[in-house]
Amino acid sequence: MCQVDEEYNGLEKTPAPTLNKKCVKCKEETAVLNIRVNDAFCRSCFKEYFIHKFRAMLGKNRVIFPQEKVNVLLAVSGGSASCAMVSQVQEGLSRDAPKKLRFLPGIIYIDEGGACGLSSDERQRSVAQLKKIFTETGFPYFIVPLEQVFSLPTSVLVPGTSDPDWSGASYKIAVDEFIREKQEVTSGVDQLSLDDSVCAPEHTQSLHRLFSSIKTLTAKEDMLHTLRQHLILHTARVNGYSKVMMGDSCSRLAVKLLSNIALGRGAALASDTGFSDTRYGDVVIVRPMRDYSSKEIVFYSRMFHVPSAFIPSLDTKTPNKSSIQHLTESFVTNLQSDFPSTVSTIYRTSEKLHTALPQRSQEPASKCLLCLCAIDTTVDEASALHATLVSERLSQIKPHESCDGVNAARCCGEGQGCGSTGPCSYNRSLLNEDLKTLLCYSCRLTVKDVEAVSTLPTYITTEAEKRQTRSRMKMQISEYLLNDDDDE
Ligand SMILES: [Zn+2]
Ligand SMILES: [Zn+2]
Repeated sequence: MCQVDEEYNGLEKTPAPTLNKKCVKCKEETAVLNIRVNDAFCRSCFKEYFIHKFRAMLGKNRVIFPQEKVNVLLAVSGGSASCAMVSQVQEGLSRDAPKKLRFLPGIIYIDEGGACGLSSDERQRSVAQLKKIFTETGFPYFIVPLEQVFSLPTSVLVPGTSDPDWSGASYKIAVDEFIREKQEVTSGVDQLSLDDSVCAPEHTQSLHRLFSSIKTLTAKEDMLHTLRQHLILHTARVNGYSKVMMGDSCSRLAVKLLSNIALGRGAALASDTGFSDTRYGDVVIVRPMRDYSSKEIVFYSRMFHVPSAFIPSLDTKTPNKSSIQHLTESFVTNLQSDFPSTVSTIYRTSEKLHTALPQRSQEPASKCLLCLCAIDTTVDEASALHATLVSERLSQIKPHESCDGVNAARCCGEGQGCGSTGPCSYNRSLLNEDLKTLLCYSCRLTVKDVEAVSTLPTYITTEAEKRQTRSRMKMQISEYLLNDDDDE
């Protein structure tokens, strides 16, 4: 028995190809692996098939043109899928013309160790491991600790436009200071590679406080995902990357699709799992690995020695039922091993999804503060969401704190006391309830599990307060405003 057969026996459920079985493609070489039932490939045909898939995905979706000289940021987690993505980009760049890819790649890794409770030793070890992998690619790389969310500007929560003037002007001004700080950090170091792995101890504490104030692992994972996206977006904008590639495999997307439905993110499924995601406006997220199963990726990585690193995450070593995401993952993994084709069926559903929500104004207020998707909570009174809100409100009735006539002048807008049964929102600092109105349904559920909203990074709370003030003012002057629908 050849070595390859021995190595993959543990992973392979379908019968291993026998030595005399020929490759279905070239019909000459001996097959070394079964991709699907009766699809036995030899080593070189498998490599060709794998490489072709990547280029075909880019070609089919026409978001990044092979010849386009665009800055593309590769989001790498250290796992085999995102590392395989890096190897495919390297492959594409090294090819002979005219099939050569022309874009300019950079790598970003978000070090989440602070949220997962890793010691600084463990974190340094992981970072060193990844640094070695990144250096070998020759691409510029950014290693950003999650703690950096505590120094993000509020503009990260505002969708940009693809208009080059915009990204060249206002966002640049907004983050100018940020860049200056960075340059101080990097001066003297390799200018291409930004390594912020050393972070302020007070930020590590803030991060710890935030994550220990979140009650459930489900909400923790969701919050971690949100913060990570913000950091990636910010790094991309500051460094002039207009595209970000994520290494989500087909199996990963199947998990994401199902768990997002369970998390109430149905309205955002199309952008969360589709090939391209334009919610940020100026920076487009693409998922070029979506056609590969995790099995194919593991085979490829082992056969062609693609280096990857194991980095513990929030749900490492937790039981299956510890979070919705983790439970869905184990469900899909089991499904994949017993019924491989159902997984691709799940994920192919995501290709057909479109958001039915009308594209309203591009105002930031119409987008969710956290995930930047369209707000899906303005629905009919006859909806399940409305019923939930009513019963929530009824169960929380308490005396009105400041609308007793004494402080009426400072009340939330009605002048004579707003008369509402809930607490008056004007005289309090930001609470869960206030934040809620700015969020989509799913992000509301996550924030509900955050015990102290004050532990959130300031760019979130500041922007939330700003938007609330704005909407209060809008309400106050609403009767003087002309309706958008009025033709006169
Ligand atoms: Zn072959
Ligand atoms: Zn949201």
